[in-house]
This record gives sequence, structure tokens and C-alpha cells, in this order.
Amino acid sequence: MAKIEVAQDTYLVGIGVSPGIAIGEICLISHRATVDEWPIEPEEVDSEVARFQWAAEQARKQLQDVKAAVSSKRHLREHLYILDTHLMILNDEMLINGTEQEIRQQINAEGALKRVLNQLRQMFDNIEDEYLRERRSDVDAVGERLQRILTGEHDRPISEIGQKSLVVAHDLSPADTMQMDRQNILGFVTDKGGRTSHTAILARSLEIPAIVGLETVTSLVTDRLPAIIDGSTGVMVLNPSAETFKEYLQRKQTYEYLEKELDSFRDLPSVTTDGVHIALRGNLELASEFPVARRHGVEGVGLYRTEFLYLGREKPPSEDEQVAAYREILQEMAPHPVTIRTLDIGGDKFVPELNLADEANPAMGLRAIRFSLREGQLFKTQLRAILRASVYGKARIMFPMISGVAELRTCKRILREIQESLRQEGVEFDPEIELGVMIETPSAVLVASFLAKEVDFFSIGTNDLIQYCLAVDRGNEHVAYLYDPLHPAILRALKQVCDAAKTAGISVSICGEMAGEPLYALVLIGLGLNELSMNPAATSRVKRVLRQLSRKDGEALVEKLFEFPTSKEISVYIDKEMRRRLPEIFRQSLI
Ligand code: PEP
Ligand code: MG
Repeated sequence: MAKIEVAQDTYLVGIGVSPGIAIGEICLISHRATVDEWPIEPEEVDSEVARFQWAAEQARKQLQDVKAAVSSKRHLREHLYILDTHLMILNDEMLINGTEQEIRQQINAEGALKRVLNQLRQMFDNIEDEYLRERRSDVDAVGERLQRILTGEHDRPISEIGQKSLVVAHDLSPADTMQMDRQNILGFVTDKGGRTSHTAILARSLEIPAIVGLETVTSLVTDRLPAIIDGSTGVMVLNPSAETFKEYLQRKQTYEYLEKELDSFRDLPSVTTDGVHIALRGNLELASEFPVARRHGVEGVGLYRTEFLYLGREKPPSEDEQVAAYREILQEMAPHPVTIRTLDIGGDKFVPELNLADEANPAMGLRAIRFSLREGQLFKTQLRAILRASVYGKARIMFPMISGVAELRTCKRILREIQESLRQEGVEFDPEIELGVMIETPSAVLVASFLAKEVDFFSIGTNDLIQYCLAVDRGNEHVAYLYDPLHPAILRALKQVCDAAKTAGISVSICGEMAGEPLYALVLIGLGLNELSMNPAATSRVKRVLRQLSRKDGEALVEKLFEFPTSKEISVYIDKEMRRRLPEIFRQSLI
């Protein structure tokens, strides 16, 4: 396809999924395979079916080869299951038999496959959950692979890029991303993809700047076109002018300087100027995030989102599988604690055999702890696994979305029963294991003083708490302007929870996104939090800031903020205060 010349400084905006700036020349490795459909003669049907079967066999071979190549790389081991998922899709009856049946309707293999893929896509589009909907991309990736084999169109193999490049692709399968050589691939962008796609997760763990969801980038660019990728903001600049180039070069240097400088904070204690220790912990989902967590010196894990163990598979993980996963993270983080949150999923969708009804209002429906209490066996298996693993490090158990004391007591009763049965079986576990709840519903805030008497710690899930307190769906872009961590109601809720924890003498942390924002550090220590849990890469940034602040000043700031009736006034005041205190870090106005 002929391409129009790209104007200087052409800006494209997508979803920045992995931070950092990359500047270089483009290497266009793929665009969508062109697929035509045509009728075939009855006597051609058998050979067309055989051609399709051959393509499926080739695809399996290719995936096995990638698997063999990456299985020796420890940091990618965790992702091998994605390749297994693709291999499973290649054996899927709907895909394989479905395509063969279409071919038997006298259609060529490519056309038949296209029809079946469209049906599968439609099925995925009707799924409400974002994570599962994005697993459609796994089916798409397998479909693309098959189509390319059938049409004879070859992608440039990513493992063979021998020159420093910015990779541009229609879509990158996780298999592609795994093969990326960090030396030559400076960054990548794709037409397709979403924030929680595996490719995005991988980019972050490999620390490659990346933007996804650029929609038409492959139809705009040509090989060796100069470009800039800003994975922090999601902006791509094609054919940059000398001025833009200079500006981004400077930004890149500042970014890298700050990143380097941050390394020096790794081993420094996380203590305020008035001697208050604030534990900075990581939020983790996958073992592949260990290297980043290690590099930033996190003090353990404040939120281990166990739902990732349950996703992308037909059956929930067995007790032994879970013990192995918990053991690995506990040993990795020892002697620091790992707060293992019990399953927090939004309904039946990840566990198809349970087959529960769709819900009109899933955010307020059978999710998180409600789901666990309903699916008793699933919950018991998870609790048994956590307890069994607790001998390998310092495990803590945390229940998500607790809405009242009675619900918590039910959980505690089940936990006690399991402890008792393990004792009878002679299975070892940590009898002192700490127990906590997430405070993420308004009712939990209002009864925090009662809850505090029943647990060892609180962890405030601000992502959900903001959504429920302000009645703003956290995933709805139309009301996103109302989603505000600095709303006076949220500050009051946080204060109430921190005060309840202090009175009861238990520790209190925040594990929502708010914890990782350095601008809020003074407010958070002023509210009385002892722990902050965040994306591991954010810990050094927050540590650098809070080592220069005091709790006393934080308390005075919070008192002042309580005078303001709107979040605008609150944020302007915080911004001004932080720039005054730490001008070299908060140089420009952020408002
Ligand atoms: C939260 O709600 O703030 C939280 C940390 O949990 P999640 O984002 O997994 O719902
Ligand atoms: Mg939550």
C-alpha cells in the first residue's frame, strides 16, 4: 500500500503502557495479513482442509520453538503459560473443527478461518470484564499467526532485528515480546492492545518503553522513519523536527538521570525527618515483577493480587499449585512480609464451570469476598494454601471488599476451622499469621473502629473506595472527571480510618494507586499511615520525597486541608506546599 509522506512533527496518542522515552528509527515488522475469501470446487475441499491442518501444525511448531528459546530466561519463565495458552487455542475445537467445517462449505482456508475468528471475536466482545475481554487478543494473535502461514506473508522475525530500532507492529503477541532483545529494541508501539494485555504487562517487566492502541500507526509509517516514543504519556512523534528532537532528548536525559539517581535511594531507610518509619511495599501480581521490586528495594509486598493465578485458565489453581506460588513470593521477599489478598474477582467469568448468572451491577454484586464466601470450597482451598505456605516466610492474609463486622467474623470462623483441621492433620503453618482487611467500601470506613478491634491491620483500597464513596465508576471515562482522590470526602474517610487504626493500635496502609503519587506523600504521612504499597517502580520516587518531610508538618498540612470545601482548593494548596518544600523535585506547577 502506498503511504503518504509523513508531515514533520506528526503527533499520535495511544495508551502509554510502559514508561520511558525512546528515540530512533522505525522498524516496521508487521501489518494485518490481507485475507481474501473465495469459493472452491468440491474436489478441492480435502486438500484445502489438509492445507489448513498443515498451517496449524506449523503454528504449533513455531510456538514450541519460541518456548524452547525463552524457557532458559528466568525472568520470563512466569510468562511461558501464555505460550501454553496459545498452544491450547491451537487445539481448540471451535477454532480448528469450526474452520474445517467452514472449508467443507466450499470456502478457501483463509476465508473459512476469518469467518470463525469473527464469530469468536463477537463472543469475546460480549464479555463485560476488561481483563477477560482482552484475552481476545490471544485468540487474535493465534489467528494472525495462522493467516500469515496460510497466505505466505511473513513478519520480520523480531528476534532478528539487528539494529537499534523502534518496533512498530499491527499487534505483538506475548511470544513476540518475549523474544525482544533489549539491546536493539529501544521501544515499541502497536495499532492494537489495551492496558492489561499480556504484551503491556511484559513491556513493563522488561522495562521497554511502549505505547499500544495507536490504531493506524502501521498504515502511516515506513521503515527507518525517525520517531519518538514516550511510553510515560502515550505520545508518539513521527518525523520530529530538530526542535522536538532536542526537547525529547532533554526529557529522555532527565528521565534517565532521575531513574539513575533514584537507584541511590534503594538501600536508604524510608524514614521521615522526624524519625517516623514508613514501610514502602510493592503491589505485585506476577513473579516476573520480582526483578523490578528488588531493584527498587521494596520492603515486602503490601498487596499480592492473587486473582492473576486464577486468570486465563479453565480451572482454578489447585491447593499445591497455590502453595508453590505463595512459597516463591514469600521466599523472595523474606524477611519482609507478603500480604496475600484472597481472590478479588468480579463474578463467575474466570471460573466458567461455576456458571453463575450475569449481573446488572457487577461493581456492587457478587465480587471479592462475597464471591469467596459463596464459593466456599474455592475460598477454603486458598486459605489452606496460604496457611501451608506461611512457614516459608512472613505471610499476612487480607480479605478484599469487607463491608461489615459480621462478614469479617464469618471469614475468621472459616479461617479458624481450617487452622484446626490443619492442626489435626499435623500440617505446619504460622499460628501467628496476621490478618487484615481492605477498607474500600464506605460502610467499612464508618465501622472502622469496630473492624479495627478484630484484625491486625487495615489496608485502604483507594481505587475502589473513591469509586464507592463518590459514586463514580472507576472504569467509566464519562465520569472520570469526578474520580478525585483529593475530594474532601475522601480525605475525611482516610482520616477516620487512620484514627480508628491508631486508637486500636493496629497498622494502617494504603494500597490503591494514590499511595504511589509522590505529590501526596506529605498528606499521607500527615494522616497517620505507617505503610504505603504501590507499583514497585514508584517506591524510590516516594522514598526520595518522604525522606525530606516530617510527620509533624504533614499533620499541620492535613489540618489546613480540612478547611477547604473543594478538591480544587485542596490540590492547589498541596501543589504550592510541595513546590515550596521540595522545589528541585516539584519544579513546575502540576496543576
Ligand atoms: C483498590 O481498590 O484500591 C485496590 C488496591 O484493589 P484493586 O485495584 O485490585 O481493586
Ligand atoms: Mg479494590
